[in-house]
Amino acid sequence: MSALPEYRTRILLEHENVPLVSGVFVRPGESTPQDIPELPVFLKAQIPGATSRKSHGLVRRVDTCEELEHNLNILLSPGKWGQAEGVLITEGLDLETEYYAGCMLDFGNGDRLPGGVLLFSTEGGSGVEVRSGSLLKMRFSLLHPPATDEIEKELKVLENLKEHKAVAEFLEGMISTYIRYKLIVLEVNPLGVLKDGTVLAVDCRAEFENSAVSKSDREIFFPPEIGSSKNLTRLEEIVELINRDDPSGTGFFRQNRETPLEDSLRVATNLCGGGGKMLWEMTTGSRTDIFTMNESDTSGGLSAFKSYRILRVILAQKEAQVLLLTGSGMAFQNQYHLAAAVWKALKESPTPLPSLLRFGGTDEDKAQALFEKVSGSLPVPVRTYPPEVFPNAMVDDIMEIASVETETGKEYVPPSGEPAIIVERPPGKIYFYPEKWTGEEAPPSVKACPTGFLEWKNGKLSTNPEARCIGCLMCETASILEGTCELRVHLELPREVD
Ligand code: SF4
Repeated sequence: MSALPEYRTRILLEHENVPLVSGVFVRPGESTPQDIPELPVFLKAQIPGATSRKSHGLVRRVDTCEELEHNLNILLSPGKWGQAEGVLITEGLDLETEYYAGCMLDFGNGDRLPGGVLLFSTEGGSGVEVRSGSLLKMRFSLLHPPATDEIEKELKVLENLKEHKAVAEFLEGMISTYIRYKLIVLEVNPLGVLKDGTVLAVDCRAEFENSAVSKSDREIFFPPEIGSSKNLTRLEEIVELINRDDPSGTGFFRQNRETPLEDSLRVATNLCGGGGKMLWEMTTGSRTDIFTMNESDTSGGLSAFKSYRILRVILAQKEAQVLLLTGSGMAFQNQYHLAAAVWKALKESPTPLPSLLRFGGTDEDKAQALFEKVSGSLPVPVRTYPPEVFPNAMVDDIMEIASVETETGKEYVPPSGEPAIIVERPPGKIYFYPEKWTGEEAPPSVKACPTGFLEWKNGKLSTNPEARCIGCLMCETASILEGTCELRVHLELPREVD
């Protein structure tokens, strides 16, 4: 899954006649356009996947022409999180009210077909992820999306909403944008209401699956001019290659270009989703004793194979002292699979880091239990936290865990011989050593496979062509913890950077 910055998400909404705050886009190297909205305006640096932009100084209000030139220059130059694709200049509106609206995929269950889900809250602005209780959820069919009056009927339950009809019309346009472009996520936050009752998108973002982009829309999703001016670090390039080879799920990574203060603690982060990034920002945004080495977002149901690869990149950051991993505490991503990826990365990285890990979501208890079992065998200290612990408490432990001596430089020895199975997507190689498992019964590694992809027939390993490998690492985890290490998974990093 890839992220679309605001200026490109606006193009999609415009095509479906969704009203937007007026704005113009400026690319690096271009001069200030003549047709900018009347001052004051907001300048917004466009970096795909970046969140908490205001607190990073990537969104600025300017009131004068001098401020406009000065700030535009800053935002168009490579900054803390690299080179922006450009700057969006939007009108500074006097908003009467701010709402939140989002469309996401509903994967369905035994009783319900997959479709979309519309989220709407009368409390917009930042922090909406931790106010999930105030959200109105409306499931919708992707084949027969709801008409304005059906949406309006649902909105009537919200007592403090006055503009039912105008908001329903807006949401209908949003749903049709979501469906037309086969998006995974589409968010408008805030959805602003002006004094005269006009409803419009003030800020927006989208996430999409590369393979779902139609030929005719490629220029919007992958503009040809983007790429040459990216100014990526080597590690950022590696993540781009990981995303190229395994496009499912979000894998976003940007390194901080600023120089840390001398005594600050350098923290590498793996933040799972926008909620994780927001909590980290709220916890450390004003602290000068903590230097965030990187922005990251691993979410959207990515495989454990991909989580492992991105973690290896995060751990490879020179001079990082601690790893902190957190989500918002309510992830769809299986936390046990994520924990298996973290365990493997800490074992196999030549530069593992003392780690603070906060698991929240499906199988969070199993994730914690895994580390209770294995952390004693790791070369670095690890602490885990349940989702109800706010990252403040984790930060309180950072100094102590960073001061523990760690064993680094251990060389990872890949499995020997020929792989028994080569998985193409997500890419990985599975090695099986029959001499280590001579019983007739299936070994733990095979029994642990949740999809039935691994099979045991007549005392031999085979695969079920009807099933798929989801890259969850459960086979290797069970092989080590319950078996005889009969199975290993080898996950190469992109060939170009090996
Ligand atoms: S083979 Fe099965 S258990 Fe192993 S990674 Fe693939 S789906 Fe998971």
